[in-house]
Amino acid sequence: MKRVIVIGGGAAGMMAALAAAEAGHSVTLLEKNREPGKKILITGGGRCNVTNDTDPEGMLDAVVTNRKFLYSAMYGMTSEEMRNLLRRAGLETKVESGGRVFPVTERAGDVVDALLKLLKASGVKLRTGCEVSGIMTEELSEARRICRGVELTDGSTVEADVVIVATGGLSFRGTGSTGDGLRFAREAGLNVTETRPGLVPLITDVGWVHELTGVSVADADIRVRTGKKVIYGETGDVLFTHFGLSGPGILNASSSAGKGMRKAFEKGEPVTVVLNLLPDHETTEEFESVLQNSIAEHHEKAVRNILSSFIQKSLAEALFKVCGIAADRRGSELKREERRALTKACTALEIEVTGFQKFAHAMVTQGGVSTRDVDPSTMEARAVKGLRFAGEVLDVDAITGGYNLHIAWATGKLAGSTI
Ligand SMILES: Cc1cc2nc3c(=O)[nH]c(=O)nc-3n(C[C@H](O)[C@H](O)[C@H](O)COP(=O)(O)OP(=O)(O)OC[C@H]3O[C@@H](n4cnc5c(N)ncnc54)[C@H](O)[C@@H]3O)c2cc1C
Repeated sequence: MKRVIVIGGGAAGMMAALAAAEAGHSVTLLEKNREPGKKILITGGGRCNVTNDTDPEGMLDAVVTNRKFLYSAMYGMTSEEMRNLLRRAGLETKVESGGRVFPVTERAGDVVDALLKLLKASGVKLRTGCEVSGIMTEELSEARRICRGVELTDGSTVEADVVIVATGGLSFRGTGSTGDGLRFAREAGLNVTETRPGLVPLITDVGWVHELTGVSVADADIRVRTGKKVIYGETGDVLFTHFGLSGPGILNASSSAGKGMRKAFEKGEPVTVVLNLLPDHETTEEFESVLQNSIAEHHEKAVRNILSSFIQKSLAEALFKVCGIAADRRGSELKREERRALTKACTALEIEVTGFQKFAHAMVTQGGVSTRDVDPSTMEARAVKGLRFAGEVLDVDAITGGYNLHIAWATGKLAGSTI
């Protein structure tokens, strides 16, 4: 039996503590907040999208950064296993669109309570309001150190054979994710890759976008263009906001195309989000003939009414503004160029974006403890015996859909169960 300390009572930390305790070790979980699981409470809009109902390959396909590193973790813990674990604590889950899994109660707090119940039953000692200030290590050889325990901010120390750092990233600092683990890793001699906001809304100066605040488009075709090159293409939901673009589809683009977009911003190249707003994503040419036929059929109707059978009204009004067309004109009065401009606005609406929002609005942190310095089959630092990492503190991240929490559960389980 080893003495195990887990730092961080988030998803990764609670799972690591549970796995280590169930493997027969003496486990203490240290959380600096008064209550554990503060970030879990705000996930999935307070409903907690716990995981995704997919197989390990599906999980890996959703990973944006360091997919290969997560192979053992994802194969070591399936979404079914996560759902069974919650069931063991009396919490049933359900599957929604896109395989998103939520507790049937639709309350994130129930996920935290279920985990706390399991932790208690497995004998994990939970110390809240307890902030770690550093990791104690000793030199083993020139190239290798050994972990001896942790120092707390009150000046005391706690000895341990294994320390698992599950302190999260840098997003939503109010939840306790303030990057402490990144510092611990650096101080222990590990590399930390550059951190940046991931799954984050995009900013635009285009005024009419701001005017559309609150309007959303389901399953838009989203492309990202830097200069003349299309660097990303996927479908997803888009939400117009008072600063720019958000919604799961845009958040995914911000992570998956983040590198390319950042490079373009640095070079001063324009970055454009191109949206096809039509439900069936017809091309500009296809839609032009559809619109032409509709106008011919309803030539007495105002274009506003003609277009609203293809696109929601609030959005259609904005598109008329973008194209400089009065919405009450009759369809038959539209000139060819005006019809073209309108079809292009529906099928390839161009919005130049100027940047990303900050960590305070990011769902995840991209970058973190370098996966090169961590053994993917145990989550142990290659150069520090007994020091392990799990969850968002690592340089791993995925798109939206329950995958980031699953990374936390899976890496946490691996870190705890392989001691
Ligand atoms: C608004 C929002 C919604 C999201 N929704 C979803 C979703 O629905 N589905 C999904 O899959 N993902 C979602 N995510 C992402 C997901 O929540 C995170 O990726 C995941 O929770 C990370 O878990 P973690 O345990 O690694 O880190 P965290 O949850 O950040 O936990 C780290 C813990 O460590 C503690 N800590 C930090 N430093 C110290 C220290 N020095 N001493 C002691 N304790 C310390 C912190 O207080 C915190 O409790 C969302 C994120 C946000 C911000």
